[in-house]
Order: sequence, then C-alpha cells, then structure tokens
Amino acid sequence: MRIGTAGNTADIISRHKFSIRKKYGQNFLVDASMLEKIVNAADVGSDDKVLEIGPGLGAMTQILAESAGEVTAVEIDKELIPILKETLTGYDNVNIINGDIMKQELKELCGGEKYKVVANLPYYITTPIVMKLLEENAGIKSITIMIQKEVAQRMQTGPGSKDYGALSLAVQYYAKPVYICTVPPECFIPRPGVDSAVVRLDVYDTPPVSVKDPGFMFKLIRAAFNQRRKTLANAISGDSALSISREAVQEALKSLVMDELIRGERLTLEEFARLADVLEDNGHK
Ligand code: SAM
Repeated sequence: MRIGTAGNTADIISRHKFSIRKKYGQNFLVDASMLEKIVNAADVGSDDKVLEIGPGLGAMTQILAESAGEVTAVEIDKELIPILKETLTGYDNVNIINGDIMKQELKELCGGEKYKVVANLPYYITTPIVMKLLEENAGIKSITIMIQKEVAQRMQTGPGSKDYGALSLAVQYYAKPVYICTVPPECFIPRPGVDSAVVRLDVYDTPPVSVKDPGFMFKLIRAAFNQRRKTLANAISGDSALSISREAVQEALKSLVMDELIRGERLTLEEFARLADVLEDNGHK
C-alpha cells in the first residue's frame, strides 16, 4: 500500500489519533507522482546508502527503501516512531532513529560510508540543516531536498539578483545546485502557505574555487551581506567579527583591479576568494 496519498495519509493520522505538529514543520507529501519524481531526481540505486531527514509517516521512506540498498531515517517526533514501525513493516533495509538531525554525527550515520541525502525538509530549520550537511564533510554525495521555493532560488542565484546572498555563496562553494521542479501547496497535508521546490545539490569532491582559508572568506561574505546596502569596504570594516580597516579593504580591492566603492552583492564566489587571499597576504586576517 502506498502511504503517500491523501486518503491513506488521512486514514493513518486518524487511526493513530496523531496530532500534526506545526512546530516540527510537518507537511506530509500526499502526491504519489511527486514522491517518485524526488526519488528519481536523487538517482538512488541498489548500491546506495540513503539518509532521510524527517520521514514523517514514511511516504518517501517506502519508495526510497524500494530503490536503495539501505535507508537511515532520522525523525525528531517520538509520536511518529510507532507509526513508522507499522507503515514500514516488511522493509528490512530501513533503520529508524528517533532524534534531532542537528545533534547527529553525520559521518557515523550510515556506517561511515558515502551516502545520498533525500528529504522533504521541515521549513523552520532548512538553512541550518543544509549548512550542517555541507560543512561537516561527512562523505555526502548529493542532497535532494524539498524546500521553500524562495530558498531554492536563493541557492542557485548569482550577483545582480536580489536573492543573491550568503546562502547562495555557501551552497555554491560546496555543491552544484540543480533545480528539479516547483511543487504547489496542494501536494501536502496540511498545505504550506508558500510554493515549494525540489533541488538537488551535487556535492563537489573539490570546491570550484581555491582559497587559503575558507572560514575567513565566509566571515567576509557574512559581513558583506549583513549590511548589503553598504559598500563592501564599509561593511567589512564595520563588522565586529573582523578587525579590518576600510583602507585595508580598499587597498585589497585596488590590487584586484576592482572598484573601491563596490558592494558585496556584486562579487562572485571567485572574487570573494581572491579578496580573502589578498587580505590574508597583507596580514589582515
Ligand atoms: N518525509 C515526510 C513526507 O514527505 O511526508 C515528512 C516531511 S515533513 C515536511 C518534515 C519532517 O521532519 C516531519 O516528520 C518532522 O517531524 C521532521 N523533523 C522536524 N524537525 C526535525 C529535526 N530537527 N530532526 C529530524 N526530523 C525533524
């Protein structure tokens, strides 16, 4: 029986007297073709280990288990664990963990092997989860996720767009984002107030730009976008997490043949990397 249909989802919820919890971002997918589309986009095969974040009632877990070698599913809501035990009966390659994904040691989750992440993410915590997945260097090959459409747009955009920001640069440093499709609210119970989108992040073995200290570059990026209406030199010199003068930034920009009055939102990832290296070389890290 397919769990991810409106009828079966409503039936499971009422049979278990389950109360949907907004605080956990619970919007269950009830569109069978969309569930198939996500799993297809993730390109999951029998050799793959998969981590699912937030299995909910198990609608996607079921389809993942039919394609993958092994599925590890981390669910924060303990009320869902007995339901998952029931809905996933007979799926012997699924390992359910009751816990908060933010507190998990990602490297350990799939037995130390490389794996793919597939999830209909809780929207209240999308960015922290994505950043943890990208930054922890846990051997993740790809991340296929349902997220708010607006966040998906921010992930793939470049300089010149109002959506361009620290998230775009962080995602694009670690992965190549691929926009799969837009998903309307009708595909969920309950319906979210916004459009959603599926994106796949193909994680790089080596980042597309080289920079001496990525952590320093990201501090500069955060400073630039915390005050995005200011010039880059003013934003960086005014940031309390850094102690770099306006003149030092202007000198670095000049040596890179860039406008001293440029705003951070105009810089590409490559240009932030070059700026970070010049500032470090000039002793301003
Ligand atoms: N995968 C299911 C589906 O597609 O129907 C449910 C998706 S629902 C948008 C998000 C799920 O993530 C919920 O089951 C929620 O309880 C769970 N969740 C929320 N915060 C979590 C966290 N910090 N760690 C693990 N799971 C979480």
